[in-house]
Amino acid sequence: MRYTTYRLNGADRVGVVAGEFLYDLAELIRMEGKESLPAHGPRPETMLDVIHLGPNFWQQVTACLEAAEVRRASDPEGWRLYVDQGVVRSLDELERQGGRLLAPIPRPAKNLVCLGRNYRAHAEERGEEVPQAPIFFTKAPTCVIGPGEAIEYPSVTQLLDYEGELAVVIGRGGKQIPKERALEHVFGYTILNDVTARDVQRLHHQWFRGKSLDTFGPMGPWIVTADEIPDPQALRIRTWVNGELRQDAPTSQMIFSVAEIIAWLSDGITLEPGDIIATGTPAGVGEQAGQVRPLQRGDRVRIEVEGIGTLENPVV
Ligand code: MG
Repeated sequence: MRYTTYRLNGADRVGVVAGEFLYDLAELIRMEGKESLPAHGPRPETMLDVIHLGPNFWQQVTACLEAAEVRRASDPEGWRLYVDQGVVRSLDELERQGGRLLAPIPRPAKNLVCLGRNYRAHAEERGEEVPQAPIFFTKAPTCVIGPGEAIEYPSVTQLLDYEGELAVVIGRGGKQIPKERALEHVFGYTILNDVTARDVQRLHHQWFRGKSLDTFGPMGPWIVTADEIPDPQALRIRTWVNGELRQDAPTSQMIFSVAEIIAWLSDGITLEPGDIIATGTPAGVGEQAGQVRPLQRGDRVRIEVEGIGTLENPVV
């Protein structure tokens, strides 16, 4: 299941994407949820609502989508009704109607937790030591932007850089989650560009400001639920700048796996539904030891994670 947040006619809504089609979640439940989701049942308005409602609700949404997809395949009249009533539209049609996808969680409830140097080759290209324990830092929720939105080159930096990353969205919260059970707590996965002002990152010793400037958290295009990604260490991440391939690595090269990251983090910190963890970037960033190729205004950064999709943002 691919959950997305989209904006149409000034309203932000949760949707589910199936192939080229975007279903409005509330409308989908209204049409298909009569038995499994009664009229007085939950009507989530945001992605955080969806995640908080938990596994039973997610299963019911899956059943609604399956029923709708059967309708699409075998019930032309029913499908026409769906289209006419705005229950479903193609992603192209969304754009024609002036709508767009937002970050799946446009305003996270708290800071995004990120991993520094979680790929050996990335630590080495930066001339840094490979960590013995995860390097945790955070990005402010206000830095999040959606697919296609502009990364704004702020005047406080001369060295803007990209970092393509797999991001984990927590579904079921918990504390002291053992590594072996950690993936059961994942709602799904998305893509994050951990945009970084390298000079600001260095200036403050703590990375928070250099990583949290406005627009420094492109995220999306949707959350792919964990059932579709049984092994988050078996994905390929690639990043292009203006069509030139800069990063290309399997997530198997992470030093600390998704399960290990959750175990470390939850050992003393309560994880909550909707928490976001960015798992670190592979080699190939713009600033490396002996080579600096910062982003420029006009550049386009495109990140693809296998099984999830593509996140592309211009720099302005
Ligand atoms: Mg990073």
